Amino acid sequence: MADVSVLMPCAGLGKRMGGRVNKPYIEVLGRPLLAYALDVFQRHMSVTEIILIARKDEVAFCRQEIVKKYGFTKVREVVAGGEERQDSVFLGLAHVDEKSKWIAVHDGVRPLLTERTLDRALEAVRERGAVVVGVPVKDTIKEVNSNLLIRGTPDRSRLWQVQTPQIFTKNVLVQAYSRAAELGWRGTDDASLVERLGIDVYMVRGDYDNIKVTTPEDLVFFEEIVKKRTGGDMRVGFGYDVHRLVEGRRLVLGGIVIPYDRGLLGHSDADVLLHAVMDALLGAVGLDDIGAHFPDTDPAYRGISSMVLLQKTVELLRNSGFECNNVDCSIVAQQPKIAPYREKIRLNLAQALKLQSEQVNVKATTTEGLGFTGQGEGIAAYAVCTIRKCN
Ligand code: MG
Repeated sequence: MADVSVLMPCAGLGKRMGGRVNKPYIEVLGRPLLAYALDVFQRHMSVTEIILIARKDEVAFCRQEIVKKYGFTKVREVVAGGEERQDSVFLGLAHVDEKSKWIAVHDGVRPLLTERTLDRALEAVRERGAVVVGVPVKDTIKEVNSNLLIRGTPDRSRLWQVQTPQIFTKNVLVQAYSRAAELGWRGTDDASLVERLGIDVYMVRGDYDNIKVTTPEDLVFFEEIVKKRTGGDMRVGFGYDVHRLVEGRRLVLGGIVIPYDRGLLGHSDADVLLHAVMDALLGAVGLDDIGAHFPDTDPAYRGISSMVLLQKTVELLRNSGFECNNVDCSIVAQQPKIAPYREKIRLNLAQALKLQSEQVNVKATTTEGLGFTGQGEGIAAYAVCTIRKCN
């Protein structure tokens, strides 16, 4: 059901970060933290609107540089916040849509919330009425006095570290914040104000990496997690090639000569498999195709071993700052049987690509006598690869 409003305070001053840009707008891998924090809510079916609460002097910037620039269509308003988080959330509450049933409050500098955790929290709140996301405390916690004298060691098994989102029915949250304003209660999270109304709030287990980005070390951690989740600078490439089978030519596949009464026709040695692999590699890095780099009109490439071209391709990749991560390929041929040569081809490819043999896979298939490969008119090859940025 689409009945959830999201309040996202991002009015903090980022005092601990030391930079000139306010925390939510710090860019990591080309995007501001706030944009990462918004993603999961923008995508979620249950969320109907998002109210951003920004610093007064950053409202216009936030509208232009975050909401408009990154296309967050669910952000209905960017409103000016107050002195502290609690003041900001209170101000934001006044802008929530009448029709919304639930309000999820989420920190604008908590950019690693996963869809799975959000799902779990929304499911739980529909059953229990008020939930916060958190994780069991891993370290032992001590209570100290102002002289740092330890006054107690609370039982760790009952301690949870609280994160966001914190989700409540709209009525309950409005009531909690209104009472807090009336009676001067201060709380460091939303749940504490709701708890003071005597309303039960339940914990929903989240993820340890759903951190609030507060210090420069957090930024480093954040970047690593984003890279891990997105595959980092990983890219995928695809290649396909076909050559005609003719008499009077050697059959070269994957850099080895395979005994057969015909061979593949082409300007080079017509190694159809290596051509598909090269096209996959060039495709992944965005460097066009082998025809562009090694044109068959160039006499330099007449009869050349495609292994040499593959090595040149690997260099091109390297010069663009990439290296191959893995390759999988299929040879499509009715005849001859490829199986006896597969392992040798695999090792050949691994060596040329500077990979371990398990990072390379070579398959072969017939087409059951169908089509040009089935009729023995030619051989086709497909290849996919992943490449990654190298240093
Ligand atoms: Mg070719």
